[in-house]
Amino acid sequence: MPRRATFVILIALFVLAAEARFSAQPGPGDRVILITLDGARVQEMFGGLDVDILRATIKPDQKAQDQPVYRRFWAETPEARRLKLMPFFWGTLMAGHGSIAGNPRASSSVTLTNKHRFSYPGYSEILLGEAHDDTIKSNDPTRNPYVTVLEELKTRLGLTAAQVGVFASWNVFSAIVEHTRGALTVNAGYQDFNHPDAPVRELSALQLETPTPWDSVRHDVYTFRFAMAHLKSARPRVMYLALGETDDWAHDGRYDRVLETYARTDRFLEELWRWLESDTEYRNRTHILITTDHGRGRTPGDWRDHGANVEGAQDVWMAFVSPRMPQRGEWRQHPPLHTSQAAATLASWMGVDWHALRPAAGRAVR
Ligand SMILES: [Zn+2]
Repeated sequence: MPRRATFVILIALFVLAAEARFSAQPGPGDRVILITLDGARVQEMFGGLDVDILRATIKPDQKAQDQPVYRRFWAETPEARRLKLMPFFWGTLMAGHGSIAGNPRASSSVTLTNKHRFSYPGYSEILLGEAHDDTIKSNDPTRNPYVTVLEELKTRLGLTAAQVGVFASWNVFSAIVEHTRGALTVNAGYQDFNHPDAPVRELSALQLETPTPWDSVRHDVYTFRFAMAHLKSARPRVMYLALGETDDWAHDGRYDRVLETYARTDRFLEELWRWLESDTEYRNRTHILITTDHGRGRTPGDWRDHGANVEGAQDVWMAFVSPRMPQRGEWRQHPPLHTSQAAATLASWMGVDWHALRPAAGRAVR
């Protein structure tokens, strides 16, 4: 063989190998959905209603047993309580389709690597795969200085902006999820959602007529409805649903509303899952990662709070629903996982090696 031909073949093999490194296994129809519940503690996720917290949030002359949320969500064991709080998540999704890490009682640990333990650094760690404690250290709506995994997936997979949809209750997500403004479809906070269907446009108007107690966070139900509408009409390959009320009601000390939010979120997850299962393009090809941006304090004295000095706010959890992951139920006795592994995990499901792009990022969970 002439030396020149050998050279050409070697170059071709090199290019093919480099391609394969970034596009192994997944088929062209794979899809990924990231879902976050802001500041959702491991205590509620794995144990349901925390009666010490409930007692601390009612008046001295009231009894916990008389509270509507107690009657609705109390049971004797943590397993029974969490099943009452999130019946679809535990009874169907984790039992039959996925797994969750982070329960201290199962010797399972998932922690943040950022030291701030509040929202923007937490979400940025999820979307970048690494903490940047010196540069990402406030919740101000400043644009993310780094390209996120959502943007990278769009570029690598050759997707349109409509095919990467982000729906968030908190308005700062507009700055967090995109390094380049306009790269993705982003609808965050009290933002109009212009959709071809009239009922969706009516909901978009209604969100402004139903204010929350918080200026920067709308009700999760609008975020969820817009995400479902986009899913059905634009059929994105990459979607991020960022729910916020689990955090805001907790800051306000409304434990009853916190519990109701978990239950409502469970119904959102069920509706989403039923739709995915009913659609031939999404069924068996959709990978879902569900997690939170930080925990909160562990005691009745500090459960409302989180931050660098709040013990327990570093404790988080991560759930995986992927046709390529066989685990079911709870992870037990494994090496600790970290929030910094979320980006690489999402990328790996779509055939992209995030660790090769960001050597300091956490490794994909398999
Ligand atoms: Zn948060």
